[in-house]
Amino acid sequence: MKVLVINCGSSSLKYQVLDMTNESLLCKGLVERIGMEGSVINHTKTGCEKVVNVVPMNDHKDAIAQVLAAIQDPENGVVSDMSEIGAVGHRVVHAGEMYSDSVLITESVMDALEQCVELAPLHNPPNILGIRACQALMPDTPMVAVFDTAFHQTMPPQSYLYALPYEYYTKYKIRRYGFHGTSHKYVSQRAAAMLNVNIEDLKLITCHLGNGASVTAIKHGKVIDTSMGFTPLEGLVMGTRSGDIDPAIVDYIRDKENLTPEQVNNVLNKKSGVLGISGVSSDFRDLEAAVEEGNERAQLALRVFAQRVRFYIGAYIAEMNGVDAIVFTAGVGENDIGMREFICNDMGNLGIKLDPFKNKVRGQETIISADDAKVKVLLIPTNEELMIARDTYKLARK
Ligand code: ADP
Repeated sequence: MKVLVINCGSSSLKYQVLDMTNESLLCKGLVERIGMEGSVINHTKTGCEKVVNVVPMNDHKDAIAQVLAAIQDPENGVVSDMSEIGAVGHRVVHAGEMYSDSVLITESVMDALEQCVELAPLHNPPNILGIRACQALMPDTPMVAVFDTAFHQTMPPQSYLYALPYEYYTKYKIRRYGFHGTSHKYVSQRAAAMLNVNIEDLKLITCHLGNGASVTAIKHGKVIDTSMGFTPLEGLVMGTRSGDIDPAIVDYIRDKENLTPEQVNNVLNKKSGVLGISGVSSDFRDLEAAVEEGNERAQLALRVFAQRVRFYIGAYIAEMNGVDAIVFTAGVGENDIGMREFICNDMGNLGIKLDPFKNKVRGQETIISADDAKVKVLLIPTNEELMIARDTYKLARK
């Protein structure tokens, strides 16, 4: 079966087609500027050059129509007609407490997603638009929703409850949900396979360090804690997000800077993180280049970032009474040799020690801890699309 994976944002859309008989990637693409001037589709068939097509797309339905045309294109397509696509898997950010696993999409699932719009006002609406557009163009093809929050639903109440009046949880569903679940799940399964140990016998800490970043404690295959919370703003310092701060700061800067609540929100989400501290960039490559030139604030931003990752690793070792393996994934985790070194430095008493030579790698599955270290440190490139395709294939076949 061939599976189409759709990850739909407000003005962009990523897609892949995978052949699930051998899990191979047939093509992938990115649509940008949906509903704006200059909308464009970038399509790459595996083994071929990227094809860029600037074509007007007024809405998500137009965008999906272009995706379907691209994958059926006689030259760069991967199917001769749409009947070859057995199912479509959609990435959906927020399922609240409704789903702890992926689900075949029905109208009642769509109702549930609508109810979660309140919890993820920026993410769920485009996800819903993407599903509706696919349903309109492929009415007979099974669709599956794969949620960022699902994997974290095993967290116990002591991890997910905030110490607010309890009614805020019951009335408004304010609790820790966690995000990047598909990535944490994928790398935890790969870690177990690489170590040749049953996941039920492992204590893992998975560090998804990209533009958005989160750390998750996974004990015996189940999430017991994660750093992101009610929204993806909590937890680690990120590219442009503050992560954990004293909540009293919110009111304080609003008054001092004379900002509206929306503006404060914008500062915390878009102008903070390593960008905010350094004043240079949210991209770790730029920060490292600035450090080379002696920029002290860029250096400080990297230190603060590493410090928070270390803080969570320590906390999760305490929560799980130990750890067997720590996994690094996503843009920074997979590529930033210096940052991995920084994070794991001077943790020998916890059994964590990198092998400096083994650590000199980027973007490949490998073990980077010293042979004599008690805790294994793994580098595992994430693959959320493959995870989505697997769940989609599994549910659509039933
Ligand atoms: P997201 O999917 O959250 O947008 P990614 O997981 O793709 O993010 O990570 C993007 C980030 O990875 C970039 O902003 C950059 O900071 C970092 N990154 C990518 N390549 C490198 C590299 N070679 N060295 C250091 N950082 C890198």
